[in-house]
Amino acid sequence: MRLESCDVCDPDGKRVQVLDVDGVIALYNTIDKSEHKYINIDQNGYVITNQDYAKYSNSNNYKALSELVKSDINYTIEITDELKYKNEMGNIISIEMGPINVIPNWGKDAFGFDTNETGWLGLTQTPGISVDKYASIDNDVHIIINSSLSEEGKAQTLSHELYGHALLFQRKQPHTHNIIYKI
Ligand SMILES: [Zn+2]
Repeated sequence: MRLESCDVCDPDGKRVQVLDVDGVIALYNTIDKSEHKYINIDQNGYVITNQDYAKYSNSNNYKALSELVKSDINYTIEITDELKYKNEMGNIISIEMGPINVIPNWGKDAFGFDTNETGWLGLTQTPGISVDKYASIDNDVHIIINSSLSEEGKAQTLSHELYGHALLFQRKQPHTHNIIYKI
């Protein structure tokens, strides 16, 4: 069969929304260039993928993105230096993501990050408040990426959050880990 590019993508699959231009760049950077033609982002930031193509793609990232796009949960991607979350009292709190520091020759870590950047790289906020959880402020899942990261750092962090934590949440699997740095 002939695989069409994204002018014929399923218009109903709009569950992943990118909120800023840096996020659009980061998202494209998580997908191989050869597959960029199978991604569209509309004027409201909604990601559209080709679900027919996704069945044949060899890219786990493309398949993961397509799975999220057609899900029944809303995901947003935001590149920012400010995090809003709901605390265990139900109050909305705003805090800074803090600085990103570069440690020369730090090398690749357990998660595959290799930009030598450290700090609060990003997080995936899920609904439901509890103690010590930076819970989503609503019923959506919010992927927050520290805006102080390099372009490559943003892409690697987004890949970790979106195709790791968010996808596990989507699949109702354990989706958190207890690493206290490089999250
Ligand atoms: Zn993580």
